[in-house]
Amino acid sequence: MIYLDHAATTPVPPAVADAVRDALVNQYGNPSSQYPIGREAKALVARCRETVASALGCQAERLVFTACGTESDNFALRLAAWQNRHAGRHIVTTAVEHSAVLEPCHWLEQEGWTATYLKPDRNGNITAEQVAAAVRSDTAVVSVMLVNNETGCVFPVREIADALRAAGSKALLHTDAVQGFLKVPFRADTLGADLISVSGHKLGAPKGVGALYLGERIRNPRPLLAGGGQEDGRRSGTEATAQLAGFAKAVELRMERLDETLARMAALKAYALDRLLAIDGVVRVGDGSAPHILALSLVGYPSANVVEDLGAQGVCISAGSACHRGRASHVYEAMNLPKKVKSGVLRVSFGPETTEAEIDALAAALKNHRDTRFPML
Ligand code: PLP
Repeated sequence: MIYLDHAATTPVPPAVADAVRDALVNQYGNPSSQYPIGREAKALVARCRETVASALGCQAERLVFTACGTESDNFALRLAAWQNRHAGRHIVTTAVEHSAVLEPCHWLEQEGWTATYLKPDRNGNITAEQVAAAVRSDTAVVSVMLVNNETGCVFPVREIADALRAAGSKALLHTDAVQGFLKVPFRADTLGADLISVSGHKLGAPKGVGALYLGERIRNPRPLLAGGGQEDGRRSGTEATAQLAGFAKAVELRMERLDETLARMAALKAYALDRLLAIDGVVRVGDGSAPHILALSLVGYPSANVVEDLGAQGVCISAGSACHRGRASHVYEAMNLPKKVKSGVLRVSFGPETTEAEIDALAAALKNHRDTRFPML
């Protein structure tokens, strides 16, 4: 099987599975317990926080562990809206955010907030000027993702932060960096965002663990979950020690030779572009520069059929975000692509271990699909 859907989720390396197992079997204490095995579990959580924070470029106490990227996004928007509710009730975001951002924005709209959803250009890009122009005196929250999960477009979060400061806006800035963490270099403490969401399973950790960075402008955050006061009172619930051990180990592995890996992935993406665009009928969608995501379209061939057929040929790619489950993607809709391009969109996404031979196999499978199936009318 050839797995080219790393933006949906990633395989768990054996060393990560070992770390998870060790935490489950040997370090099963409750971090709040006052005897040695509890204290060991508490120390494990502290070490995991140090590892993830150091990779993210911030101090450990700035990081709240969560159950996933979705939770981090929800927490960030709720928290920013609550803290800044007296500054106004307007949100600026983009029409191409993940649903983990869009849905909380819709909730806030139901609670009387208004939201502006910025549309990208045909290549999938959003500019800092566009964001700045949408910000009003009552804008309390701005949320713009770092890397779009369907196009791989990298959005100018640093420039947006600068523009907000230059305009004297009180808005808190959140970025969903789930697809950017350890793919597009940044440091949390200099990116300029007040809140940064990340997720473990996009980089080799088990599913079900994420984190939220809280910048220094975040004061006394209203807890996401109230209870026993874990995560410094910001998100109660007994710590998921095994998930955290897996998260930290996965981050540690990715940090080894990170620059080299990212350069290799970028070269592989260039190779894939060459190979796939050489197939008649294949066009590129957007001009995303993230090294691990490539959006294409086999024009006129419905993507659901292509994905299914390629799956049967042993090649896993997706028709966009895994979260859509067959629904048309709001991202390609917002990019205003021609209908035949939009209905044929495919997302190929790589991991550190992906090889040129796997890309060749994808090209062969795609060509085979085109040669043996009828396009839609
Ligand atoms: N944000 C983006 C950009 C994503 O790609 C995803 C997952 O696909 C999420 C948020 C949600 O993360 P999780 O699956 O950890 O809830």
